[in-house]
Amino acid sequence: MDLGSVVVGLMALVAAAGIGAAVVAHRSRSAIVGAQRSAREARADLDRREATAREQRGVQDLILGSMQEGVLLLDAELDTAFANEALDRHLGGRPASVAQLLPLDFQEAVRGVATSSTPVTVEAERHAPDRWLRLTAAPAGDGAVLVVVSDVTDARRIDAVRRDFVTNASHELKTPAASIQAAAETLSAVAEDDPAAVPRFAAQLEREALRLSRIVADLLDLSRLESGGEVGEPVRLDVVVREEMERADDSAKRAGVDLSVRTNGPALVRGSARDLSLLVRNLVDNAIRHTEAGGRVTVDTNEQVDQVTLTVTDTGVGIPARELPRIFERFYRVDRARSRETGGTGLGLSIVRHVAENHGGSVAATSELGTGSSFVVTLPASAPSEDAAPSSGRRAGEGTVN
Ligand code: ADP
Repeated sequence: MDLGSVVVGLMALVAAAGIGAAVVAHRSRSAIVGAQRSAREARADLDRREATAREQRGVQDLILGSMQEGVLLLDAELDTAFANEALDRHLGGRPASVAQLLPLDFQEAVRGVATSSTPVTVEAERHAPDRWLRLTAAPAGDGAVLVVVSDVTDARRIDAVRRDFVTNASHELKTPAASIQAAAETLSAVAEDDPAAVPRFAAQLEREALRLSRIVADLLDLSRLESGGEVGEPVRLDVVVREEMERADDSAKRAGVDLSVRTNGPALVRGSARDLSLLVRNLVDNAIRHTEAGGRVTVDTNEQVDQVTLTVTDTGVGIPARELPRIFERFYRVDRARSRETGGTGLGLSIVRHVAENHGGSVAATSELGTGSSFVVTLPASAPSEDAAPSSGRRAGEGTVN
Protein backbone atom coordinates (compact mmCIF):
# COMPACT_ATOMS: atom_id res chain seq x y z
CA MET A 1 0.00 0.00 0.00
CA ASP A 2 1.47 3.35 -0.96
CA LEU A 3 1.51 6.33 1.25
CA GLY A 4 -1.16 8.06 -0.80
CA SER A 5 -3.61 5.23 -0.23
CA VAL A 6 -2.88 5.24 3.52
CA VAL A 7 -3.55 8.96 3.71
CA VAL A 8 -6.76 8.61 1.70
CA GLY A 9 -7.88 5.67 3.92
CA LEU A 10 -7.01 7.62 7.02
CA MET A 11 -8.85 10.61 5.74
CA ALA A 12 -11.84 8.46 4.90
CA LEU A 13 -11.66 6.94 8.37
CA VAL A 14 -11.46 10.34 9.94
CA ALA A 15 -14.34 11.51 7.77
CA ALA A 16 -16.35 8.41 8.61
CA ALA A 17 -15.53 8.87 12.29
CA GLY A 18 -16.56 12.52 12.01
CA ILE A 19 -19.84 11.64 10.36
CA GLY A 20 -20.43 8.90 12.93
CA ALA A 21 -19.69 11.32 15.74
CA ALA A 22 -21.99 13.88 14.18
CA VAL A 23 -24.72 11.28 13.84
CA VAL A 24 -24.23 10.17 17.42
CA ALA A 25 -24.15 13.76 18.59
CA HIS A 26 -27.25 14.51 16.59
CA ARG A 27 -29.01 11.46 17.97
CA SER A 28 -28.20 12.25 21.57
CA ARG A 29 -29.18 15.92 21.05
CA SER A 30 -32.59 14.78 19.73
CA ALA A 31 -32.98 12.47 22.68
CA ILE A 32 -32.22 15.36 25.05
CA VAL A 33 -34.60 17.69 23.22
CA GLY A 34 -37.27 14.96 23.24
CA ALA A 35 -36.71 14.33 26.92
CA GLN A 36 -36.80 18.05 27.60
CA ARG A 37 -40.03 18.38 25.65
CA SER A 38 -41.73 15.52 27.43
CA ALA A 39 -40.50 16.89 30.76
CA ARG A 40 -41.98 20.28 29.82
CA GLU A 41 -45.25 18.64 28.78
CA ALA A 42 -45.36 16.59 31.95
CA ARG A 43 -44.67 19.74 33.94
CA ALA A 44 -47.39 21.66 32.06
CA ASP A 45 -49.79 18.77 32.58
CA LEU A 46 -48.97 18.75 36.27
CA ASP A 47 -49.42 22.53 36.45
CA ARG A 48 -52.78 22.21 34.68
CA ARG A 49 -53.90 19.51 37.09
CA GLU A 50 -52.73 21.55 40.07
CA ALA A 51 -54.55 24.65 38.76
CA THR A 52 -57.75 22.61 38.25
CA ALA A 53 -57.41 21.12 41.72
CA ARG A 54 -56.76 24.63 43.14
CA GLU A 55 -59.79 25.94 41.29
CA GLN A 56 -61.96 23.11 42.59
CA ARG A 57 -60.63 23.64 46.12
CA GLY A 58 -61.36 27.38 45.75
CA VAL A 59 -64.94 26.65 44.67
CA GLN A 60 -65.33 24.13 47.51
CA ASP A 61 -63.93 26.62 50.04
CA LEU A 62 -66.20 29.33 48.66
CA ILE A 63 -69.28 27.09 48.94
CA LEU A 64 -68.41 25.63 52.32
CA GLY A 65 -67.21 29.00 53.65
CA SER A 66 -70.36 30.88 52.64
CA MET A 67 -72.76 28.23 53.94
CA GLN A 68 -74.95 29.12 56.92
CA GLU A 69 -74.74 25.49 58.00
CA GLY A 70 -71.70 24.21 59.82
CA VAL A 71 -70.02 21.28 58.06
CA LEU A 72 -67.78 18.81 59.88
CA LEU A 73 -66.12 15.74 58.38
CA LEU A 74 -64.85 13.17 60.86
CA ASP A 75 -62.53 10.38 59.70
CA ALA A 76 -62.78 6.69 60.65
CA GLU A 77 -61.11 7.47 64.03
CA LEU A 78 -63.72 10.21 64.47
CA ASP A 79 -61.02 12.88 64.38
CA THR A 80 -61.79 16.11 62.53
CA ALA A 81 -60.73 15.95 58.89
CA PHE A 82 -62.49 19.14 57.83
CA ALA A 83 -64.64 21.88 59.38
CA ASN A 84 -65.93 25.10 57.83
CA GLU A 85 -66.19 28.54 59.44
CA ALA A 86 -69.91 28.28 60.16
CA LEU A 87 -69.21 25.23 62.33
CA ASP A 88 -66.85 27.33 64.50
CA ARG A 89 -69.57 29.96 64.80
CA HIS A 90 -72.34 27.52 65.72
CA LEU A 91 -70.30 25.46 68.18
CA GLY A 92 -68.13 28.31 69.48
CA GLY A 93 -64.94 26.53 68.33
CA ARG A 94 -63.68 23.68 66.20
CA PRO A 95 -63.65 20.24 67.87
CA ALA A 96 -60.45 18.25 67.23
CA SER A 97 -62.43 15.04 67.45
CA VAL A 98 -65.85 13.70 68.37
CA ALA A 99 -64.81 13.74 72.05
CA GLN A 100 -64.80 17.57 71.95
CA LEU A 101 -68.15 17.81 70.19
CA LEU A 102 -70.71 19.56 72.41
CA PRO A 103 -73.58 19.51 73.40
CA LEU A 104 -73.26 15.89 74.52
CA ASP A 105 -76.38 14.84 72.57
CA PHE A 106 -74.41 15.62 69.39
CA GLN A 107 -71.51 13.42 70.47
CA GLU A 108 -73.83 10.48 71.11
CA ALA A 109 -75.59 11.01 67.78
CA VAL A 110 -72.29 10.96 65.84
CA ARG A 111 -71.01 7.87 67.66
CA GLY A 112 -74.35 6.22 66.92
CA VAL A 113 -73.96 6.94 63.19
CA ALA A 114 -70.39 5.59 63.23
CA THR A 115 -71.55 2.26 64.68
CA SER A 116 -74.95 1.87 63.02
CA SER A 117 -74.28 3.63 59.66
CA THR A 118 -77.76 5.10 59.88
CA PRO A 119 -78.25 8.88 59.38
CA VAL A 120 -79.61 10.74 62.39
CA THR A 121 -80.99 14.23 63.18
CA VAL A 122 -80.99 15.66 66.67
CA GLU A 123 -81.69 19.11 68.18
CA ALA A 124 -79.98 20.39 71.31
CA GLU A 125 -79.51 23.67 73.16
CA ARG A 126 -76.14 25.28 73.69
CA HIS A 127 -75.57 28.08 76.17
CA ALA A 128 -73.70 31.39 76.26
CA PRO A 129 -75.14 32.47 73.91
CA ASP A 130 -78.36 30.44 74.20
CA ARG A 131 -79.04 28.88 70.82
CA TRP A 132 -80.92 25.84 69.57
CA LEU A 133 -78.87 23.79 67.10
CA ARG A 134 -79.90 20.97 64.79
CA LEU A 135 -77.31 18.34 63.87
CA THR A 136 -77.67 15.90 60.99
CA ALA A 137 -75.02 13.18 60.80
CA ALA A 138 -74.67 10.64 58.01
CA PRO A 139 -72.09 7.96 57.12
CA ALA A 140 -69.60 9.25 54.51
CA GLY A 141 -67.91 5.93 53.57
CA ASP A 142 -64.93 4.05 55.06
CA GLY A 143 -66.13 4.78 58.60
CA ALA A 144 -66.12 8.58 58.11
CA VAL A 145 -69.08 10.64 59.32
CA LEU A 146 -70.35 13.85 57.72
CA VAL A 147 -72.05 16.28 60.10
CA VAL A 148 -74.17 19.34 59.24
CA VAL A 149 -75.11 21.78 62.02
CA SER A 150 -77.72 24.54 61.63
CA ASP A 151 -79.07 27.20 63.98
CA VAL A 152 -82.81 26.65 64.46
CA THR A 153 -83.34 29.18 67.28
CA ASP A 154 -85.43 31.58 65.15
CA ALA A 155 -87.47 28.80 63.55
CA ARG A 156 -88.25 27.37 67.01
CA ARG A 157 -89.21 30.83 68.32
CA ILE A 158 -91.55 31.44 65.35
CA ASP A 159 -93.05 28.00 65.92
CA ALA A 160 -93.62 28.77 69.59
CA VAL A 161 -95.20 32.16 68.73
CA ARG A 162 -97.50 30.42 66.23
CA ARG A 163 -98.49 27.77 68.75
CA ASP A 164 -99.18 30.45 71.39
CA PHE A 165 -101.17 32.44 68.88
CA VAL A 166 -103.38 29.49 67.93
CA THR A 167 -103.92 28.69 71.63
CA ASN A 168 -104.74 32.33 72.48
CA ALA A 169 -106.99 32.82 69.44
CA SER A 170 -108.87 29.60 70.20
CA HIS A 171 -109.26 30.67 73.81
CA GLU A 172 -110.50 34.14 72.80
CA LEU A 173 -113.02 32.65 70.37
CA LYS A 174 -114.14 29.95 72.80
CA THR A 175 -115.43 32.44 75.40
CA PRO A 176 -117.97 34.31 73.23
CA ALA A 177 -118.88 31.07 71.44
CA ALA A 178 -119.70 29.44 74.81
CA SER A 179 -121.68 32.55 75.88
CA ILE A 180 -123.65 32.45 72.62
CA GLN A 181 -124.47 28.80 73.16
CA ALA A 182 -125.54 29.43 76.77
CA ALA A 183 -127.65 32.47 75.82
CA ALA A 184 -129.33 30.59 72.95
CA GLU A 185 -130.17 27.64 75.23
CA THR A 186 -131.55 29.95 77.93
CA LEU A 187 -133.49 31.90 75.33
CA SER A 188 -135.29 28.85 74.06
CA ALA A 189 -135.96 27.70 77.64
CA VAL A 190 -137.41 31.06 78.82
CA ALA A 191 -139.31 31.81 75.58
CA GLU A 192 -142.43 30.05 76.91
CA ASP A 193 -142.01 30.25 80.70
CA ASP A 194 -140.68 33.80 81.10
CA PRO A 195 -141.24 35.91 77.96
CA ALA A 196 -140.19 39.06 79.84
CA ALA A 197 -136.64 37.71 80.10
CA VAL A 198 -136.32 37.15 76.34
CA PRO A 199 -135.01 40.66 75.41
CA ARG A 200 -132.25 40.38 78.04
CA PHE A 201 -130.95 37.08 76.65
CA ALA A 202 -131.43 38.25 73.06
CA ALA A 203 -129.29 41.31 73.87
CA GLN A 204 -126.63 39.07 75.41
CA LEU A 205 -126.72 36.90 72.32
CA GLU A 206 -126.24 39.92 70.07
CA ARG A 207 -123.41 41.31 72.23
CA GLU A 208 -121.45 38.07 72.20
CA ALA A 209 -122.03 37.51 68.47
CA LEU A 210 -120.71 41.02 67.85
CA ARG A 211 -117.66 40.32 69.96
CA LEU A 212 -117.03 37.10 68.09
CA SER A 213 -117.25 38.82 64.72
CA ARG A 214 -114.95 41.66 65.95
CA ILE A 215 -112.30 39.15 66.98
CA VAL A 216 -112.58 37.32 63.65
CA ALA A 217 -112.39 40.62 61.70
CA ASP A 218 -109.28 41.71 63.66
CA LEU A 219 -107.67 38.30 63.18
CA LEU A 220 -108.25 38.50 59.44
CA ASP A 221 -106.80 42.04 59.31
CA LEU A 222 -103.81 40.95 61.34
CA SER A 223 -103.12 37.92 59.19
CA ARG A 224 -103.36 40.06 56.03
CA LEU A 225 -101.01 42.67 57.54
CA GLU A 226 -98.52 40.06 58.68
CA SER A 227 -98.05 38.88 55.13
CA GLY A 228 -96.88 42.38 54.09
CA GLY A 229 -98.32 45.72 53.04
CA GLU A 230 -100.44 46.52 50.01
CA VAL A 231 -99.11 48.25 46.91
CA GLY A 232 -98.16 51.82 47.80
CA GLU A 233 -100.34 54.69 46.66
CA PRO A 234 -100.12 58.37 47.66
CA VAL A 235 -102.30 58.91 50.74
CA ARG A 236 -103.25 62.14 52.54
CA LEU A 237 -102.98 61.06 56.18
CA ASP A 238 -104.67 64.27 57.36
CA VAL A 239 -107.70 63.39 55.21
CA VAL A 240 -107.76 59.80 56.49
CA VAL A 241 -107.69 61.20 60.05
CA ARG A 242 -110.62 63.53 59.40
CA GLU A 243 -112.68 60.70 57.91
CA GLU A 244 -111.99 58.51 60.92
CA MET A 245 -112.78 61.36 63.31
CA GLU A 246 -116.23 61.69 61.75
CA ARG A 247 -116.75 57.99 62.17
CA ALA A 248 -115.66 58.11 65.84
CA ASP A 249 -117.74 61.16 66.65
CA ASP A 250 -120.80 59.19 67.83
CA SER A 251 -118.91 56.89 70.16
CA ALA A 252 -116.99 59.89 71.61
CA LYS A 253 -120.28 61.67 72.29
CA ARG A 254 -121.74 58.51 73.89
CA ALA A 255 -118.66 58.24 76.12
CA GLY A 256 -118.80 61.95 77.00
CA VAL A 257 -115.30 62.45 75.61
CA ASP A 258 -114.23 65.60 73.78
CA LEU A 259 -112.64 64.65 70.45
CA SER A 260 -110.54 67.12 68.48
CA VAL A 261 -108.11 67.10 65.56
CA ARG A 262 -105.23 69.38 64.60
CA THR A 263 -103.39 69.22 61.28
CA ASN A 264 -100.64 71.47 59.92
CA GLY A 265 -101.55 71.01 56.27
CA PRO A 266 -101.39 68.05 53.90
CA ALA A 267 -99.58 65.08 55.40
CA LEU A 268 -98.58 62.96 52.45
CA VAL A 269 -97.41 59.37 52.82
CA ARG A 270 -97.16 56.42 50.46
CA GLY A 271 -99.01 53.25 51.34
CA SER A 272 -102.49 51.88 51.81
CA ALA A 273 -105.38 54.25 52.64
CA ARG A 274 -107.38 51.28 53.92
CA ASP A 275 -104.65 50.16 56.35
CA LEU A 276 -103.90 53.70 57.51
CA SER A 277 -107.63 54.13 58.28
CA LEU A 278 -107.40 50.95 60.34
CA LEU A 279 -104.40 52.36 62.23
CA VAL A 280 -106.11 55.68 63.01
CA ARG A 281 -109.40 53.94 63.93
CA ASN A 282 -107.73 51.61 66.42
CA LEU A 283 -105.76 54.38 68.15
CA VAL A 284 -108.75 56.75 68.36
CA ASP A 285 -111.07 53.93 69.44
CA ASN A 286 -108.62 52.90 72.21
CA ALA A 287 -108.23 56.49 73.39
CA ILE A 288 -112.02 56.92 73.67
CA ARG A 289 -112.54 53.54 75.36
CA HIS A 290 -109.86 54.17 77.96
CA THR A 291 -110.91 57.73 78.81
CA GLU A 292 -113.55 58.56 81.40
CA ALA A 293 -116.48 60.87 80.64
CA GLY A 294 -115.37 64.51 80.70
CA GLY A 295 -111.95 63.57 79.33
CA ARG A 296 -110.28 64.66 76.10
CA VAL A 297 -108.82 62.94 73.04
CA THR A 298 -106.68 64.95 70.62
CA VAL A 299 -105.38 63.76 67.25
CA ASP A 300 -102.52 65.60 65.55
CA THR A 301 -100.93 65.13 62.15
CA ASN A 302 -97.72 66.92 61.43
CA GLU A 303 -95.59 66.88 58.29
CA GLN A 304 -91.91 67.69 58.65
CA VAL A 305 -89.21 67.54 56.00
CA ASP A 306 -89.05 63.82 55.49
CA GLN A 307 -91.52 62.38 57.96
CA VAL A 308 -95.13 62.56 58.99
CA THR A 309 -96.19 62.09 62.59
CA LEU A 310 -99.60 61.17 63.91
CA THR A 311 -100.14 61.70 67.64
CA VAL A 312 -103.19 60.47 69.53
CA THR A 313 -103.28 61.83 73.07
CA ASP A 314 -105.89 61.17 75.75
CA THR A 315 -106.54 62.20 79.32
CA GLY A 316 -107.59 58.64 80.18
CA VAL A 317 -106.73 55.95 82.71
CA GLY A 318 -103.11 55.60 81.55
CA ILE A 319 -100.90 52.51 81.36
CA PRO A 320 -98.47 51.38 84.10
CA ALA A 321 -94.84 51.86 82.97
CA ARG A 322 -93.99 48.17 83.38
CA GLU A 323 -96.83 47.19 80.99
CA LEU A 324 -95.87 49.65 78.24
CA PRO A 325 -93.34 47.37 76.47
CA ARG A 326 -95.98 44.63 76.11
CA ILE A 327 -99.10 46.46 74.94
CA PHE A 328 -98.32 45.94 71.24
CA GLU A 329 -98.31 42.15 71.64
CA ARG A 330 -101.27 40.20 70.30
CA PHE A 331 -104.01 39.66 72.91
CA TYR A 332 -102.07 41.52 75.59
CA ARG A 333 -104.36 43.61 77.78
CA VAL A 334 -103.53 45.64 80.87
CA ASP A 335 -107.05 45.44 82.23
CA ARG A 336 -108.73 42.38 80.76
CA ALA A 337 -112.18 43.15 82.21
CA ARG A 338 -112.16 46.76 80.97
CA SER A 339 -111.03 45.66 77.52
CA ARG A 340 -113.88 43.12 77.28
CA GLU A 341 -116.50 45.50 78.70
CA THR A 342 -115.59 48.19 76.19
CA GLY A 343 -115.58 45.78 73.23
CA GLY A 344 -111.81 45.35 72.91
CA THR A 345 -110.26 42.34 71.20
CA GLY A 346 -106.68 42.73 72.46
CA LEU A 347 -105.51 42.98 68.83
CA GLY A 348 -105.88 46.72 68.13
CA LEU A 349 -102.35 47.83 68.96
CA SER A 350 -100.84 44.82 67.25
CA ILE A 351 -102.67 45.92 64.09
CA VAL A 352 -101.40 49.49 64.58
CA ARG A 353 -97.79 48.32 64.89
CA HIS A 354 -98.04 46.14 61.76
CA VAL A 355 -99.54 48.95 59.67
CA ALA A 356 -96.84 51.39 60.84
CA GLU A 357 -94.04 48.90 60.09
CA ASN A 358 -95.51 47.93 56.70
CA HIS A 359 -95.26 51.64 55.83
CA GLY A 360 -91.61 51.79 56.90
CA GLY A 361 -92.53 53.58 60.12
CA SER A 362 -92.93 52.89 63.82
CA VAL A 363 -95.21 53.50 66.78
CA ALA A 364 -94.30 54.43 70.34
CA ALA A 365 -96.35 54.98 73.48
CA THR A 366 -95.84 57.13 76.56
CA SER A 367 -98.23 57.14 79.47
CA GLU A 368 -98.78 58.21 83.02
CA LEU A 369 -101.14 56.24 85.19
CA GLY A 370 -104.28 58.23 85.96
CA THR A 371 -103.20 61.13 83.72
CA GLY A 372 -103.37 59.78 80.16
CA SER A 373 -101.50 58.25 77.26
CA SER A 374 -99.95 59.40 74.02
CA PHE A 375 -99.32 57.23 70.95
CA VAL A 376 -96.99 58.61 68.28
CA VAL A 377 -96.82 57.04 64.82
CA THR A 378 -93.92 58.14 62.61
CA LEU A 379 -94.08 57.45 58.87
CA PRO A 380 -91.75 58.42 56.01
CA ALA A 381 -93.19 61.41 54.13
CA SER A 382 -93.85 61.08 50.42
CA ALA A 383 -92.47 63.85 48.16
CA PRO A 384 -95.41 65.84 46.65
CA SER A 385 -93.81 65.77 43.16
CA GLU A 386 -93.90 61.94 43.14
CA ASP A 387 -97.49 61.94 44.25
CA ALA A 388 -99.20 64.54 42.14
CA ALA A 389 -102.66 62.99 42.60
CA PRO A 390 -103.18 61.60 46.13
CA SER A 391 -105.76 58.80 46.05
CA SER A 392 -107.26 59.62 49.42
CA GLY A 393 -107.52 63.36 48.87
CA ARG A 394 -111.25 63.66 48.70
CA ARG A 395 -111.27 66.44 51.27
CA ALA A 396 -108.24 68.38 52.46
CA GLY A 397 -108.51 69.80 55.95
CA GLU A 398 -106.78 72.23 58.21
CA GLY A 399 -107.60 73.75 61.58
CA THR A 400 -109.50 72.21 64.47
CA VAL A 401 -112.77 70.34 64.49
CA ASN A 402 -114.79 68.93 67.33
P1 ADP B 1 -107.85 46.24 73.31
O1 ADP B 1 -108.75 45.78 72.25
O2 ADP B 1 -107.96 45.47 74.57
O3 ADP B 1 -107.91 47.72 73.52
P2 ADP B 1 -105.28 46.79 72.18
O4 ADP B 1 -104.31 45.89 71.52
O5 ADP B 1 -105.84 47.88 71.36
O6 ADP B 1 -106.40 45.86 72.78
O7 ADP B 1 -104.57 47.41 73.44
C1 ADP B 1 -103.91 46.56 74.35
C2 ADP B 1 -104.06 47.08 75.75
O8 ADP B 1 -103.36 48.30 75.89
C3 ADP B 1 -105.48 47.40 76.13
O9 ADP B 1 -106.16 46.27 76.61
C4 ADP B 1 -105.29 48.44 77.21
O10 ADP B 1 -105.05 47.80 78.44
C5 ADP B 1 -104.03 49.17 76.78
N1 ADP B 1 -104.34 50.43 76.07
C6 ADP B 1 -104.33 50.63 74.75
N2 ADP B 1 -104.60 51.92 74.46
C7 ADP B 1 -104.77 52.53 75.62
C8 ADP B 1 -105.07 53.89 76.00
N3 ADP B 1 -105.24 54.86 75.09
N4 ADP B 1 -105.17 54.17 77.32
C9 ADP B 1 -104.98 53.20 78.24
N5 ADP B 1 -104.71 51.93 77.96
C10 ADP B 1 -104.59 51.59 76.67
